[in-house]
Amino acid sequence: MPNIYSTEKFEKEFTYSGSDLGATYTPEKTTFRVWAPTADTVTLNLYGSGTPGTDDLVEQLPMTADVNGTWIAEKEGDLNGTYYTYLVSVGGNENEACDPYARTTGVNGKRAMILDLASTDPDGWENDTNPNAGMTYNDAVIYELHVRDLSSDESSGIQNTGKFLGLTETGTTTASGIPTGLDHMKDLGITHVHLLPIYDYASVDETQSDKPQFNWGYDPENYNVPEGSYSTDPYNGAVRVAEMKQMVKALHDNQISVIMDVVYNHVYNASDFCVNQIVPGYFSRVNEDGTYSNGSDCGNDTASERSMVRKYIVDSVKYWADEYHIDGFRFDLVGLIDTETINEVVTEVHKTHPDVIFYGEGWTMDTAVTKDGYKMTTQPNSTDVPGFAFFSDTLRDALKGHVFYTTRKGYVSGAADLADTVKGCFLGQAGDWCTTPAQSINYASCHDNMTLLDRITRSTPGVSEEDRIRMNNLSAAIYMTAQGIPFLQAGEEMLRTKIDASGGFVENSYNSPDSVNSIKWDTLEDEAYQNVYNYYKGLIAFRKAHAALRLTNADDVNANITSVDGLDENVLAFRINGGVNGETSDGIFVIFNPNSTETSVTLPDGAWDVCVNADHAGTEALTTVSGSVSVEPISAMVLVKKES
Ligand code: CA
Repeated sequence: MPNIYSTEKFEKEFTYSGSDLGATYTPEKTTFRVWAPTADTVTLNLYGSGTPGTDDLVEQLPMTADVNGTWIAEKEGDLNGTYYTYLVSVGGNENEACDPYARTTGVNGKRAMILDLASTDPDGWENDTNPNAGMTYNDAVIYELHVRDLSSDESSGIQNTGKFLGLTETGTTTASGIPTGLDHMKDLGITHVHLLPIYDYASVDETQSDKPQFNWGYDPENYNVPEGSYSTDPYNGAVRVAEMKQMVKALHDNQISVIMDVVYNHVYNASDFCVNQIVPGYFSRVNEDGTYSNGSDCGNDTASERSMVRKYIVDSVKYWADEYHIDGFRFDLVGLIDTETINEVVTEVHKTHPDVIFYGEGWTMDTAVTKDGYKMTTQPNSTDVPGFAFFSDTLRDALKGHVFYTTRKGYVSGAADLADTVKGCFLGQAGDWCTTPAQSINYASCHDNMTLLDRITRSTPGVSEEDRIRMNNLSAAIYMTAQGIPFLQAGEEMLRTKIDASGGFVENSYNSPDSVNSIKWDTLEDEAYQNVYNYYKGLIAFRKAHAALRLTNADDVNANITSVDGLDENVLAFRINGGVNGETSDGIFVIFNPNSTETSVTLPDGAWDVCVNADHAGTEALTTVSGSVSVEPISAMVLVKKES
């Protein structure tokens, strides 16, 4: 796997900047262009079906060498629905590869399909837009969901189990009539749903997709194609495209924006990946000994710093935003992707879609970058990528305890030394890496590791269920009122738990059965769960009603939020000015009491409406107080200055 790919000479000669890679369809003809600079010959195979191994080759067309290492071919006639591959002779081998720019594929993603994209548009698609256009990053409330989890428990009442179409169903309920699925998300008040991988991934066999199979999908096969097992017919490439668009449209019609989880940092199998079949080893970083770099711990790392990989990533993200109206992108292990690539993605997409949100996992990892002078998109380099936000593991670990030491307590569960960390996070300045609330994704749980309630339970032996729920709700009150971008794992708002057959908490449920991963909608029939749901709903409503919780820069935070001194140990309180960032109230006062005893806090002058306490949250006054206020054990209180 030669590093000549990273030389200036190679890049100068073989960087193609056109926008016509892949198959360009018109009813009269289809043109093809593939980048294969080291190939001796390239042949276009046209097939009758998309099913790998089927002996239905229709025609082979030799491709012609063209500019910058690209090869071209053209075929007259209406080829909509025809499947194709590239047969590449390179380095003495003959490799048959799917098109890296495939718009769709047949079953299991081995053969690309020529597609009239306009024919897949649902009714009204031309008028479909981001329902939350105009929002800043800080206005978002993000809900992280796996497509299958929404509908795989029988109590969902959803017909299209595990499918894109499951997210389009309205009017679904539990047996006793409690709303589920899309109606639930809409009622909760989230602004964005973040979907775990919905591009084509490898770990679910699409020929068996009527049987229960589960995987998170962090194993990319085709970057620009929807996952087939989420469609009702993975054999017909048009169906997955049409149904994913229907899903986006249904969510948009219900005021929910859509974020895709994208995994450009590694591929399922480096040797088999289509780009590496066409240009051996080009897509992946190599160590000095010729082995694949493996900072991802998934077998390979993407060489984002190479010009045609960077273009590929930029083109791919732009394509999802343009063609599927995607409103945000969550980059998996973005600490493996260079800052220049990320900045180009953000800049290019924002030119035409200024409201698209970008964030990711900025952990620092050991990777063999193929060229000197490139920085990776990590938390410590956050100021180099100002349009990109990062998951705040600082807040996550401070709230519930360290993610890898699961018996340790967090701020909400009784740790004595985390108040200062929580304070910094509340002000949108987490740890030593975050300088602005616009770059902090504030959360207590996501798909990785234990659910919030499971993590609390693990570290609090002997504590009552009632107190654990208080800890859960205190976590939510902190990250929902903190400066930054709140994010929750689907089901956290109903005490989601992941327990295996032997009763243990599942930390890594990437391929666990539905029984572990599914959202158990019927838990909402229990009053305690319904109360937690209403608490989350109230916190979201409060956040949306108060612009001062959604400041976009550190200067505004420093000028308008004061941390209150002289409180009981571990108690935190903050005074937020009125009249800031469009805030219409005269000010907000926030108190967090993680202690097992109640605490008394002196309020600033005037009368204050209590909108959030231990049990209730919302925009209306539960009671009005002045002078000082008593805050119950393990609870938050949020007050709004009563207009004089
Ligand atoms: Ca697949």
